[in-house]
Amino acid sequence: MWIDTHCHLDAPEFGPDHALGLQARERARELGVGLCVYPAVACFDFDAVRELAHRTGDAYALGIHPLFVPRASDADLQALANELERRVGDPRLVAVGEIGLDFFVPELCTPAMRERQWQFYREQLRLAQRHCLPVILHVRRSVDWLLKGLREAATRGRPLAGGIAHAFNGSVQQAQAFQSLGFRLGFGGAVTFDAARQLRQLFATLPPDALVLETDAPDIPPQWLYVNAAERAAGRPQGVNSPAELPRIGAGLAGLRGLTPDALADLSTANALAALPRLSRLLLSPAGAVPPAHACHQAGGSSPVIAAGGTES
Ligand SMILES: [Zn+2]
Repeated sequence: MWIDTHCHLDAPEFGPDHALGLQARERARELGVGLCVYPAVACFDFDAVRELAHRTGDAYALGIHPLFVPRASDADLQALANELERRVGDPRLVAVGEIGLDFFVPELCTPAMRERQWQFYREQLRLAQRHCLPVILHVRRSVDWLLKGLREAATRGRPLAGGIAHAFNGSVQQAQAFQSLGFRLGFGGAVTFDAARQLRQLFATLPPDALVLETDAPDIPPQWLYVNAAERAAGRPQGVNSPAELPRIGAGLAGLRGLTPDALADLSTANALAALPRLSRLLLSPAGAVPPAHACHQAGGSSPVIAAGGTES
């Protein structure tokens, strides 16, 4: 069984009412994808990812993505805090995400916007700590600052619950730094490109417990779906990436480590369950019958975090 630890099934590419996404999710299930994680990107999709996760028997995360920080206000951070309070008992809520820092997009690299991203990142780490939830990180030209935020967070309050650095594409040393803070590294379509030699080498040599798999659908298509600019100009449509591509991605990646696809499926599934522990309960219980998640206790061990809305609906 495979777990797609990162896909945006609510994205507009999946059509009105997510119809194409739901079809793709069914196809993925037939191909052995047992669970998907749908991270939110901003307040506007908190309901969509939750509803999709309940509808397809999968999982979701709540957070404000760095690409959406320019349009977000302090009130959005408060709305996220409120939504986490409300949903923390929902067993399908498995992380805070997608959060992080993007120092690649020019609009996000002005001093003011770097500062704003940093503020959102730190606040969201704080929320993750408050609820003992792992985080799903967006990493682009921002490894050192992300690590700085994690280390800073680790020195205050309760420990960080780790998580996943998604679409990882850094150095061995950076990978080790994330691992030492309890993080797994997400790999997907980017590794299927023959030209991605460094990334393929990294995937091949990292410790086995460091790896999780993802599609990041509809983004980061694997090589067989990728249509270059010249082909697009000639009228060939871009193939749409979906969770149904994960088994083929996994089969291709397994060879890089000298594993069978089944062995990589087992390994990456075990790692995904370790990175996002709430997923385990979703696997153990039949769809629609998962008991509420246990909210963690506030520092000092007094009262549990309120777990309103903590039942399947
Ligand atoms: Zn994403």
